[in-house]
Amino acid sequence: MLSLHNLSVSIGKQKILDDISFDFQPGKTYALMGPNGSGKSTLASAIMGHPEIIYSRASKITIGKKLDRRSGNIKNLSADKRAKLGIFLSFQTPLALPGVTVFALLRLALEKQMDPVTLHKQVKKYATELHIKDELLTRSLNDGFSGGEKKKLEALQAVLLAPQFALFDEIDTGVDVDALKTIAHFLKKHLPKTTTLVFITHSTRLLKYIRPQEVLVMKGGRLVKTGGSLLSQKIEKDGFDEIEV
Ligand code: ADP
Ligand code: MG
Repeated sequence: MLSLHNLSVSIGKQKILDDISFDFQPGKTYALMGPNGSGKSTLASAIMGHPEIIYSRASKITIGKKLDRRSGNIKNLSADKRAKLGIFLSFQTPLALPGVTVFALLRLALEKQMDPVTLHKQVKKYATELHIKDELLTRSLNDGFSGGEKKKLEALQAVLLAPQFALFDEIDTGVDVDALKTIAHFLKKHLPKTTTLVFITHSTRLLKYIRPQEVLVMKGGRLVKTGGSLLSQKIEKDGFDEIEV
C-alpha cells in the first residue's frame, strides 16, 4: 500500500524528518506515537503533500502500484492530486472555512460519486450516529466549533470520502472520552475494510479505543521503533518514554 522510502524532509532550512522507511499494509490500523516535536505532524504533512515540505532527493513515497509509469513516486504531486489517489489527512487543528458548510465541501469533493440528495441523507445519518447537532451542518465548517465537534466532522468527512489511506493527527486532543469512543467506533464501522488507518497521538489513552495492530514510535524526526500489540500494551502501561530503542 503506501510506502515510505528513505524519507527525509526539511521545512525552510530546518531538517525535520530523517531517513524514514516503512510499508503500510491495506486494512491495518496503526498508531503513530512519539513525544511533542518528534515529527509526527510533519510526517503527515509530507505524506499529504503540504507545500512547505522539501523532500530530499532520495525520498520516495509510493501508493499502490503503477500510479506513475516512471517511478510511482508521488512526492512531487500536489495535495489535491494525492487526495484523488485516496490519501486523506485530518489535521491536528482543522481550519475554519468561513462561508463553506460541510455539505458544500463534500458536495464538491463527491460530485462525481454521489448526487446531492443522497449525500444530504448520508450526512444526516452519520451526524446522528456521531451525535453532531443538526445546526452544525448548516454553519461554516469549524467556525466556532468545539474541539470535539471539529474532530467529529473530520470523522464524518473521512467516512464519506472513503480513502485508501487515512491519517488522523491527534484526533484525541481536546476530545472527551465519550466523544473519542464514538469517533473511534464510527471510523472502524464505516471506513472500507481495506482502508489503512493511521492514528497519530502523543497520548496512550487512544490505544484502548483503536486497538492498533502496529505501533510506530518517532523521536527526533526518526522512526525509532515499530511493533505489534505487545509494544502497544507496553506503551499503554509504561508510556513511550520508557521503551528501549
Ligand atoms: P509533533 O507533531 O510530533 O509534535 P512536529 O512535526 O509538529 O512534531 O514538529 C517536529 C519538529 O519540526 C519540531 O522541532 C518543530 O519545531 C519543527 N517544525 C514543525 N513545523 C515547522 C515549520 N513550519 N518550520 C520550522 N520548523 C518546524
Ligand atoms: Mg503534531
